[in-house]
Amino acid sequence: MAESCEVNGMKEEKIKIGIFGLTCCAGEELNVTNLEEELADIAEIVDLRHYLMVQSINEFPVDIALVAGFVATKEDEMRLKEIRKNSRYLIAFGSCASSCGGVHGLRMKEPLSAQYREVYGDVKMNGEIAPLSEIRPIDSYVEVDYYIRGCPVPEEEILYYIFKFIRAPPVKNELLPVNIQTEGYGKIRGDAFSLDPEKCVLCRRCVNICQKHIGQGVIDFISRGGGAKVVVSTFFGESFENAGCILCGQCITSCPVGAYQVRSDVERVKNILANPDNFTVAILDPMSCTSMMQHFSREEDFYTYVRRVIASLRKIGFDKVISFTEGYHLSLIHQARHIMKGDEHEKIAAWCPAAQNLIKKSYRELIRYITFDTDPLYMLMRILRETFGPRAKYVLITPCVAYKNTDEVDAVLTAPELRRLLSYSGIDVDIEKPDRAGFDRECFHAGEMEIMNTYPLGPMSESLLWYLTLFMREEGEVKRIQIEKGVEEIVMRIGETTKKALFITVPAKLKKYVVRMGDYDYVEIVPCFGGCAGGGGHYPPATPEKIEERRKMIEKYNERIISKLNRWAMSRAYELMAREGFRCPV
Ligand code: SF4
Ligand code: SF4
Ligand code: SF4
Repeated sequence: MAESCEVNGMKEEKIKIGIFGLTCCAGEELNVTNLEEELADIAEIVDLRHYLMVQSINEFPVDIALVAGFVATKEDEMRLKEIRKNSRYLIAFGSCASSCGGVHGLRMKEPLSAQYREVYGDVKMNGEIAPLSEIRPIDSYVEVDYYIRGCPVPEEEILYYIFKFIRAPPVKNELLPVNIQTEGYGKIRGDAFSLDPEKCVLCRRCVNICQKHIGQGVIDFISRGGGAKVVVSTFFGESFENAGCILCGQCITSCPVGAYQVRSDVERVKNILANPDNFTVAILDPMSCTSMMQHFSREEDFYTYVRRVIASLRKIGFDKVISFTEGYHLSLIHQARHIMKGDEHEKIAAWCPAAQNLIKKSYRELIRYITFDTDPLYMLMRILRETFGPRAKYVLITPCVAYKNTDEVDAVLTAPELRRLLSYSGIDVDIEKPDRAGFDRECFHAGEMEIMNTYPLGPMSESLLWYLTLFMREEGEVKRIQIEKGVEEIVMRIGETTKKALFITVPAKLKKYVVRMGDYDYVEIVPCFGGCAGGGGHYPPATPEKIEERRKMIEKYNERIISKLNRWAMSRAYELMAREGFRCPV
């Protein structure tokens, strides 16, 4: 029978609460029992229906289920589904449940068999325990209405939420307000960037993006030990790379106080330029110049601004300045070929290194679908190395933080680093005379191939259509259909042929589409808001308006290049490419 209590003099049915623990250290459940003094008050107003840690009679259904821990076994999965079926609201309770398994998520770093051997040696499993090989947050298995994060969730917060729920049911996905100070915590390191919790104002933007948009749960609010302060951290202060980070850089661009610092390669580049034996090549992604111009320039024409940057790079000593867009076009050509051939396993584009990291770290079953020969840097470097020989040193200038970990080049500069490098050399881009020749062209034989300097703004399917129609010598059109927020289906019609692409801009949604890879000819995953216009290598913080403005700059830049090409040059370029008269490295 339902218990009742008195609220404002009226008899009301007590709210039924269940506290559940899947596989975990039971920190959350234990912290509830630590509320010794308050438990009696709580019991007055709630009906504690389910709480295995303290009572022997446990019943369903409940109004609110607080579920701690993560799904480590088939049994956990079945139990979680049973809880969901029997509760009105399900709350992920603590970091293990809310993100990727918390401390236990570290298990993903090595195959389960290797870890088993480390702990149990040659002892055979008796078959009763069936650990799952992947750690996923509980919302991968059931719908979650609300998240309370923390490792463990502090007692005072548990109390706060229990009383809050009694007053009013939780609102779906409501955010946990955090206003606790950070003090005395060391930096969280990574090869590409680090986080200084001392600077953090706990605005929660980076945590939300990493958890909900990217779906990796690398960072969270952590309180270490009872009564400790709350900080943003990886679990156990692991390096970003070890904690499952895909290096999308979206935490960096979202931070309003600059708590994230990208590794600086400025000194490395200065040393490269200072050595007279080096032949130096700058590979400039024009997208990098957008946020530099946005923040610091009086120049109004982006095309001219890029020419000024090229002139500046030559002035500080680079022997060649190559456009990274040539790599993109090489990749497009290769992906178009895979699509035309209908290659079964060559469908996830490798344009984006962070998307590649996502698959390698969290969706290993999809690795076989990656088209590694569509990685623009890899493709470009094959040609450049062959052209410039072993003496050459390469510096990539990019809006993409994920490239900070590449072995393909000798140094990687983001937009703020490039500006710092130029400032050290006493160069003000605004007063440099625009370089008349523009980028050096090394990938393609024909000088008419200025088209290769256009920037293929995402989704790439639209640029792919250009190549597909070119190679198939047919007219074509593209139709975009939104399936849900962050997921689109793109239908490409080339003559009588139809090709279908999946375009994912919220990587956390990928898990729903894993089983549908066979339905598509081409799959593109873009982790950054607005694509590379929102990359972590721009000046932070990013806003939707700034990102949109960067995309507009690039559109105008493309228009300028295309308008410069006369009809003769365009038709010659088409003709050459249709005959595959470019230096293609496969
Ligand atoms: S770079 Fe991306 S995956 Fe890594 S911590 Fe930041 S948001 Fe998460
Ligand atoms: S975005 Fe910056 S200030 Fe906000 S929680 Fe993250 S590190 Fe802290
Ligand atoms: S979308 Fe662009 S900037 Fe962002 S991770 Fe991918 S390649 Fe890098």
